[in-house]
Amino acid sequence: MDFKLSDREELLRKSIREWAEKEIPPYMEAMEETGEFPVELIKPMADMGINGVVTPQEYGGTGMGHLARVIVLEELGRVCPAIPMSMQVHHMCTYALDVFGNDEQKKKYLPGLAQGETLGVLAVTDPSGGSDLAGMQTSAKLEGDKYILNGRKCFITNAHVSDTWVIIAKTGEGRKALSAFIVEKDFPGVKLGRKEDKVGLRGANTGELVFQDAEVPAENLLGQEGDGMTIALRGIVECGRPGMASVGLGILNASLEEAVKFANERTAYGQPISRLQQIQVHLAGIYSDLELARLAAYRVGWMVDQGMRVDAESALAKSFACEAAVRSARRAIEIHGSYGIMKEYAVQRLLRDAVVTIPAGGTSEIAKIVLGRAALSAAS
Ligand SMILES: Cc1cc2nc3c(=O)[nH]c(=O)nc-3n(C[C@H](O)[C@H](O)[C@H](O)COP(=O)(O)OP(=O)(O)OC[C@H]3O[C@@H](n4cnc5c(N)ncnc54)[C@H](O)[C@@H]3O)c2cc1C
Repeated sequence: MDFKLSDREELLRKSIREWAEKEIPPYMEAMEETGEFPVELIKPMADMGINGVVTPQEYGGTGMGHLARVIVLEELGRVCPAIPMSMQVHHMCTYALDVFGNDEQKKKYLPGLAQGETLGVLAVTDPSGGSDLAGMQTSAKLEGDKYILNGRKCFITNAHVSDTWVIIAKTGEGRKALSAFIVEKDFPGVKLGRKEDKVGLRGANTGELVFQDAEVPAENLLGQEGDGMTIALRGIVECGRPGMASVGLGILNASLEEAVKFANERTAYGQPISRLQQIQVHLAGIYSDLELARLAAYRVGWMVDQGMRVDAESALAKSFACEAAVRSARRAIEIHGSYGIMKEYAVQRLLRDAVVTIPAGGTSEIAKIVLGRAALSAAS
């Protein structure tokens, strides 16, 4: 077993870190104020290989893979967690297209997504409930050479900043009830719905997509009719949850750095508070959460690269990292005393960002269902 990153991965981390520290901060104040994603960053991120990290080179990506993706998202999230939130859903879209698309679909859509012409969307959640995928009401019906879509998708990342969407809709009943479609923003009957005003991850756009007799060419069916549940679940398990674990990792890195910096600068009783044992207990907690979350997230990225199943590992990495991010941001605030709840200090934003990671990609309760099943089969 080898835990050492390759020279290529270390170089990737270094270059993304340098880029993120220089390019993202100028946008952060506006992101907090307006809740808008900085679309100006889409192309520069693509030029850094971020958008196409899991897209093969023949379709315009860099094909660096899923461990590389976790590293990239972690580094972006260390500077601003809203950016990897947005990018990780973009990757869910490109991954679904790559795994399930035919050659024509891949040639048509992947190069533009990988090279920064637009961001991607993977929309599963209906207003009727995100955890119960099979209960969705958005429907699609084949009429001649078109599918007619009706319904609404909610809480969708990149909804208002994307032209290319993978939409999961109901086409039948039973085990094969769902299908997936590649939908363009400008197809007839497609509309943008409300834009959400979130407490955290404010710079990641979240909104509704509305379909009123929307017309989708039959050739935009992704995979076969009835593949929708598989496409949604593989997107969530192999890309979405590792992606959210990486957003959590970014928050953990930032919480540790902010906490240590403040604890070294703030003095009490004539010494930096970092010398106080209770402050060190908080720091030890953040440090431990970061190290464990990183091990779990990197393992999933590596396993996806090997083509292994990651149902339990992915739920574990996601739920652990996101819950740890909430815990650690809270600890960082404690270390800051009253400064921690002042807007000029980053730690209050980190807690707001961390709370928003909990439902995205599947709630902690849903993760426990997956982990409960894994526990039962591991011990039987
Ligand atoms: C920032 C953000 C970005 C998102 N981006 C996307 C996106 O790009 N695409 C997309 O499709 N969706 C997206 N979502 C939606 C997200 O996946 C759902 O919100 C999530 O799956 C939960 O669904 P829900 O909000 O409808 O809650 P519900 O499913 O209604 O759950 C409500 C509560 O009931 C609990 N619960 C549900 N079922 C069970 C059960 N069987 N046992 C125990 N408890 C249960 C849940 O854990 C939760 O506490 C995003 C959400 C957020 C916050």
